[in-house]
Amino acid sequence: MLLRTDDVDRPTDNLKRFLEITKDVPVVVAAQPFDIFDDLENITQEMKDNDNWYVPTETLIKSYTNVTVCQHGWDHKNHAPEGEKKNSYPESRDVNECIAEIMEGKKSLEKHFGDQFYPVFIPPWNRFGHNKQILSEIGFVGMEDDEGTLDMQVNKEWIDETYFWRKIETDNTIHSLMFHHDWMNDENFQFLENLVNSGVISWKSIRESS
Ligand SMILES: [Zn+2]
Repeated sequence: MLLRTDDVDRPTDNLKRFLEITKDVPVVVAAQPFDIFDDLENITQEMKDNDNWYVPTETLIKSYTNVTVCQHGWDHKNHAPEGEKKNSYPESRDVNECIAEIMEGKKSLEKHFGDQFYPVFIPPWNRFGHNKQILSEIGFVGMEDDEGTLDMQVNKEWIDETYFWRKIETDNTIHSLMFHHDWMNDENFQFLENLVNSGVISWKSIRESS
């Protein structure tokens, strides 16, 4: 089973908490290249003077060797026409524009994370309106969308626990659990901690899965 958390940009307390709880198992962070690195430039003297020295997302993630970084689009902007489901890369958006944006993000993640980056594409909202072939042409070995992915926060509400366990036990198409650390509350973190510590689920690295 893959353990994945989405929308990684700022080094929020929730991100720190998520990484700390899951530090002994393989984790995928779906990172937004557009705004994950600019915090380094925005460190103010006030932050430096503060006792809690501000740790940029990049530094934070690098301190967890169990983490694999994958690309979550670019800036998580919606480009879908009105009335359509949210999508950064809808069919109607110029394909060359999509490719250019994705390539720039990929280059940036590779440069900053080196081998900690793995080229599986995770599109925002789990939607990609173009032929997947274009992703392999620019070096991706796979794509993770919502197929076989269990959303732990359906419409931002925590998944029903009874449903969760029944699904895990009976649905063998589920290969990935998708979290959104920034939406999680104390109770949700407790669930994650119990889940990781229970040893019930065998977690796989995305490098073995894709
Ligand atoms: Zn997202």
